[in-house]
Amino acid sequence: DLDPLNLVAVEVQAEPQARILPLGFGLPDDLFEHDGQITKREIRAATLSALSPRRGELLWDIGAGSGSIGIEWMLAHPSMRAIAIEHHAERVARIRRNASTFGVPGLQVVEGKAPEALAGLPVPDVIFIGGGGSKGGVLEAAIAALSAGGRLVANAVTLEMERVLLDAQARLGGRLIRLSVDRAEPVGPMTGWRAAMPVTQWAWVK
Ligand code: SAH
Repeated sequence: DLDPLNLVAVEVQAEPQARILPLGFGLPDDLFEHDGQITKREIRAATLSALSPRRGELLWDIGAGSGSIGIEWMLAHPSMRAIAIEHHAERVARIRRNASTFGVPGLQVVEGKAPEALAGLPVPDVIFIGGGGSKGGVLEAAIAALSAGGRLVANAVTLEMERVLLDAQARLGGRLIRLSVDRAEPVGPMTGWRAAMPVTQWAWVK
């Protein structure tokens, strides 16, 4: 089989055991090693869309968890750059393993607590806040650090973080959305919708 441009042979079925990696955003959760603290596939796809990676840009992924956001950012193009900031030591090691698995060793990992850990890092074009934003001036530090014209996206699952985002939107503008995902899962012998916690997302351009 040839691709539509007849440039490369398509052999995706060649190895029956191979896991075929999709090219779009929102890779399956189980491709990442994680402990439950991961932005779920459907939310991750919407989050990467909001982050809107452009060639060569630098992302800060604050509260990086498994590293999934920074990793998908890095996979968008070989020119992408990202720094994952995470304070939980076990998760820091996990981010490094995931980066290695996905073939993006260029993902920089900073072990430390935001906002202190942000000091001195290179100025980002884009910031994602996936954790730690509800206290201690993390959002303020992120806003201050962001390059002029840079993009900031923050996800909240707790009311405390949601309040921070609602206040920020009232003060600075930007776009607020709420994402809810229900997955069909077994209920005894039947199937029912299992609701994930809704995510409030604020996206803003400095
Ligand atoms: N987007 C991640 C999931 C984030 S879960 C993923 O897809 O894997 C939130 C993470 O934020 C947790 O791992 C938690 O340890 C981290 N965190 C919370 N407060 C933080 C802080 N102040 N500085 C750095 N990391 C923080």
